[in-house]
Amino acid sequence: MAIAGSAPRLSLGRAYGRLWRVWVRRHWPMILAALALTGIYAATSAALVRMTVWLVDAFEARDAAAIAWAPWVVIAVALARGGSLYAQAMLSNRVLATIEMDMQRSMHDALLAADLARMQAEAPAAYAARFTADIDLVRIVMQQIATGMVNIATVIGAFGQMLLIDWQMTLGVMAIFAAALVPVSRIGARLNRIARRTQAQIAAMTAQVNEGLAGARLAKTYRLEGYLAAAAGRAFDALRRLKVRTMDTRAAIDPVLEVLGGLALAALIAFVGWRIAGGASSLGDFSGFLAGLAIASQPLRKLGNLYGGMMQGLAALERIYTLLDTPNRVVDRPGARPLPPVRGAIRFEGVGFVYPDGTRALEGIDLDIAPGQHVALVGRSGAGKSSLFNLIPRLYDPTEGRVTIDGHDLRDVTLDSLRDQIALVSQDTVLLTDTVAANIGFGRPGATRAEIEAAARAAAAHDFIKALPHGYDTVLGAEGGSFSGGERQRLAIARAILRNAPILLLDEPTSALDAESEAQIRAALARLTRGRTTLVIAHRLATVRGSDLICAMDGGRIVEIGTHAELLARGGLYAELYRLQFRETD
Ligand code: ADP
Repeated sequence: MAIAGSAPRLSLGRAYGRLWRVWVRRHWPMILAALALTGIYAATSAALVRMTVWLVDAFEARDAAAIAWAPWVVIAVALARGGSLYAQAMLSNRVLATIEMDMQRSMHDALLAADLARMQAEAPAAYAARFTADIDLVRIVMQQIATGMVNIATVIGAFGQMLLIDWQMTLGVMAIFAAALVPVSRIGARLNRIARRTQAQIAAMTAQVNEGLAGARLAKTYRLEGYLAAAAGRAFDALRRLKVRTMDTRAAIDPVLEVLGGLALAALIAFVGWRIAGGASSLGDFSGFLAGLAIASQPLRKLGNLYGGMMQGLAALERIYTLLDTPNRVVDRPGARPLPPVRGAIRFEGVGFVYPDGTRALEGIDLDIAPGQHVALVGRSGAGKSSLFNLIPRLYDPTEGRVTIDGHDLRDVTLDSLRDQIALVSQDTVLLTDTVAANIGFGRPGATRAEIEAAARAAAAHDFIKALPHGYDTVLGAEGGSFSGGERQRLAIARAILRNAPILLLDEPTSALDAESEAQIRAALARLTRGRTTLVIAHRLATVRGSDLICAMDGGRIVEIGTHAELLARGGLYAELYRLQFRETD
């Protein structure tokens, strides 16, 4: 059972204190209004107790006038009770929905700002689950707290009247209910433990389902349905077991309070009954006391459940706070300056890199790239090519040595100014759900339609875009924006051309395209790379022959460096890789 993302434990006070300070407190006018309505509701609870005393005594005294009034008073109290309850619910629903949205925004902002290391720490779907499952739990708890205020007010109202009737007896009843704190808090702690595992398991289950969907093509061709069904089945089953445990544990709260309620009632009957027999108390008092106990018992039970709910919500809050609080490794350091427009000289000086999980990916990299040079990185998979690549836009920082552009250590400049001068064309061209024009336009925010079209022409993408149902305004995804591999690449190239950055990172597609696409893309790439410092991860060695410099990588090191002819003549790793591919493509 894969459970990812353990969160530090927080106390109830700390977790809900922060919730209050950051998200809830600013809605104080609405909350105050809701509390006022709650006060009205509580007053009606007290009124009900008082009325019972009054009515029973009136009946006993055969007071006709009072009895004639009674139905109207009952209606008035019921209306006030219902009205205040409804208005309170309307107000708190609005506040709660806003709080929920604000929390989602905060989490989303935190995720967008997270560096790659953090984003890759969990499956994307596991993060997404925080926006649904964890937020849901928090909302439910806040709802319970909102109604909890009504319950507290009801209990105070009812017990207040009971105190007036017979304070000694009331204290006795309170003591009986106070005894419930011990078992209820135990159950709460248990609920918190189970909830932590449940929320993590929901995330794992979501990730599992998502994996199956995202890899649908693989799953179908390799007929992995059985495997996926079994894996998802285990995740569902783990969740089922946790849910049963949650429900069982929660179910223990009611019986505890039920038994204590029975004890309170028994004590009441014994003592007050005895007092009435002695004439010290009226039947009205007894009935009023009984009504108070009846009014308070349901809210008391709910308060017991609220505690359990808050302990469950605590687990969700811990997970949400972890997402918000985990610091980024790659950040602007204090006093970082913007990188001025560069010529594109990139230097790696004694660079080593170890991933957060301890995997060493690069060691002793020294590389000097002149402005405008085309450098190809070749090597077997796992050699460290992508890792080296990732250091340039500072997706990661090197763990040893430094990387400079035009002599500026990348850690001294602001991330935005650095990334603005880099264009990336990766194997998996990411297209967002928006128009084609917008998808190219992401290359340079603020670009005009004419500039976007010019970039598309230079990328040999104009013709196929024109052939789409709405041309540049076709919305991807929605209107059949299913592009071929070659078309996606040309969109990515158009994006990069539009960006017009001095440094270009090109992660070459692994698979070969048909001859025509290949020729078009090669021409588009030639236009794109001209005059820019270009780093290419080359998978197909046929494309690297023209590079100014080829770096052959192995085990995180650059083992050979030179031109195609030099490296072939040397007869080392590159020559071997080249020979292997040549034979494959023969
Ligand atoms: P290449 O691009 O040449 O295939 P990579 O740079 O992706 O090689 O990988 C270099 C080494 O770093 C490999 O051992 C790989 O398993 C490891 N690695 C790559 N990405 C990560 C990551 N996110 N976390 C931990 N190790 C990684």
